[in-house]
Amino acid sequence: MSKIYGLTGGIASGKTTVLNIFIENGCRVYNADEIAREVVEIGTPGLAQITASFGDDILMSDGNLNRKKLSQIVFSDKQKLDKLTDITAPLIRKRILQIVENVHTLKDNLIYIFEIPLLFETNYQPYFDATISIFVKSDIQLSRLMKRNNIDGQTAKNQIDSQMPMEEKKKLANFVIDNSGDLDELKSEIKTLLKNL
Ligand code: ATP
Repeated sequence: MSKIYGLTGGIASGKTTVLNIFIENGCRVYNADEIAREVVEIGTPGLAQITASFGDDILMSDGNLNRKKLSQIVFSDKQKLDKLTDITAPLIRKRILQIVENVHTLKDNLIYIFEIPLLFETNYQPYFDATISIFVKSDIQLSRLMKRNNIDGQTAKNQIDSQMPMEEKKKLANFVIDNSGDLDELKSEIKTLLKNL
């Protein structure tokens, strides 16, 4: 039977990098950010609900959701953010669960990995065969985030501190990938992990 694992990790911990290595190793991958975009595509009930709540001004001229405008609106208004979450969270959950259920009916014996940044915070762990957290030493996480986003240390630290601590994600997971080393080390960590999944 096919297996599906939930993958998570903090900001700039290496989730995208890790997913790509899983693909190189023959795994099939999904990610929650993609699902979040799918459920508000043109013609979806999700987009209809958003325009009903936020008005047609939230659309671009081609009918697509103006994500930048929407994130600016909800960034400074907690009530509007809650409204948006009330619309999108159930749609995202429903779609993720459909995918997980579908994978469990497959007999291709492949390993499926589902990246969900807020996997533990939003309680997705019961749906997966097991969970995997990416761990990275905090000074390395900070420097990778600063470099990738071209931001100063304090801004990066604030972003990291607003999330569930990495140590906690590590404790909650069934498996841990340590991404504190270089890419070759990460690749061999993942190869070893795949033998145990
Ligand atoms: P986000 O939280 O923003 O979605 P992420 O968890 O997907 O980020 P990545 O984008 O994969 O993280 O990695 C963050 C940065 O760190 C990227 O610039 C990436 O190239 C770099 N990086 C990741 N792993 C390593 C590694 N083992 N060695 C060197 N650089 C790395």
